[in-house]
Amino acid sequence: AGLKNGRIAMRRYIASKETRETVRAALQRPSQRSSDSIIAICNPIIDAVKTRGDAALLEYTHKFDRATSLTTPVLKAPFPVSLMQLAPETIKAIDVSFENIRKFHAAQKEDKPLVVETMPGVVCSRFVRPIEGVGLYVPGGTAVLPSTALMLGVPAMVAGCKRIVIASPPRADGSITPEIVYAAHKVGAESIVLAGGAQAVAALAYGTESVSKVDKILGPGNQFVTAAKMIVSNDTNAGVSIDMPAGPSEVLVVADATANPAFVASDLLSQAEHGVDSQVILIAVGLDETQLAAIEDELHAQANALPRVDIVRGAIEHSITLVVDTIEEALTLSNEYAPEHLILQVNNAESVVAHVQNAGSVFVGQWTPESVGDYSAGVNHSLPTMGYAKQYSGVNLGSYIKHITSANLTYQGLQNVGPAVMELARVEELEAHRRAVSLRLGMS
Ligand code: NAD
Repeated sequence: AGLKNGRIAMRRYIASKETRETVRAALQRPSQRSSDSIIAICNPIIDAVKTRGDAALLEYTHKFDRATSLTTPVLKAPFPVSLMQLAPETIKAIDVSFENIRKFHAAQKEDKPLVVETMPGVVCSRFVRPIEGVGLYVPGGTAVLPSTALMLGVPAMVAGCKRIVIASPPRADGSITPEIVYAAHKVGAESIVLAGGAQAVAALAYGTESVSKVDKILGPGNQFVTAAKMIVSNDTNAGVSIDMPAGPSEVLVVADATANPAFVASDLLSQAEHGVDSQVILIAVGLDETQLAAIEDELHAQANALPRVDIVRGAIEHSITLVVDTIEEALTLSNEYAPEHLILQVNNAESVVAHVQNAGSVFVGQWTPESVGDYSAGVNHSLPTMGYAKQYSGVNLGSYIKHITSANLTYQGLQNVGPAVMELARVEELEAHRRAVSLRLGMS
């Protein structure tokens, strides 16, 4: 795998010739470095920031991000225009993406409270409030990830979160990429914390002299970021929640004989270039040797033309092609794997969507490369990995809000529902509960 006769190639399995166990094993994700060892590294960092605040935050930024010239860990809004100098075409691309993401997430708003009269005089309702303070982690000291700032920041803005705090590791010279500053400005962030890893997460969770504490932390990151998010969300004294556990990015492409081999290869590679720990899976439905070879040739040729070919090689090491006979089989395997991204390059792709049970986001048909969702279409790119698509949604407007319910009864309503309440209170031996009803109804 990875390198076959010097070629960049994925391991190939013919499902009908393998046992179910072999197929399942082939679809295992590459194992992660033990989370115990990562947690052991993160705990003292979190404690230090919790107890020593800004001073500890800066020390870690000097150490891990080599930004030794940095003297203050926070950049507060309004951000100086000099820090967001960008080429006009970059501004235009950010603006187009911003607007599409805004439109799609604004449409997710619930306009009216839900009101239901469960019995005459018993009115139950549910209404929305934005989470007040959100901390958005934008990864990468070296990488430039304005798209992540938009994907996390735009829904926070649309939801009406009062305080949006962005955290991102600075570059070695202590600066932050202008694209991220511009995105932070557009979404109305109150500040940018110039820190990464566990120390940034701790600062958001507990607050420091200059970082304001948030109620929820969202965003992807490496294993230190993920472990730190888990640790602080388990600390009841922190009072902070997180979006979801994050792992390496992944894609599963389902392709049949109608798929264009060059398109299929390009989609596999656009995921493989993320990192050596990324995983890409091709489920080929009824493809013969010639058709499989066409995709493999494209993969090899396109991979070698990429600047990040070395990363691609690493990812392809643990990536596979699985040949199946039917689209039903393909969807069964895909639903079991629960990919972060699912690409359907099959005949009548739209009709296949009905059979998708587990996936973070679906890309339908040959004109929908995953890249459009990564940046500009409007769908969110912060999605569940590691099979968590079975129980988690990707980031969406709902990630930034909470529901409050209310009950509102008339005297008649209390008469109607009271007997049930009093009986259950009696069964549970909670006499004060029973009396709160009986007293109002003038009973003993
Ligand atoms: P990062 O921002 O996630 O982590 C950088 C921080 O890691 C550093 O600031 C440092 O604090 C910490 N760190 C590094 N080595 C450490 C050590 N030995 N001990 C303690 N802390 C340490 O940036 P990254 O490392 O470049 O990782 C980026 C991650 O984001 C990858 O896992 C990638 O898969 C993911 N990613 C996600 C998206 C997305 O979904 N938008 C896009 C690209 C990358």
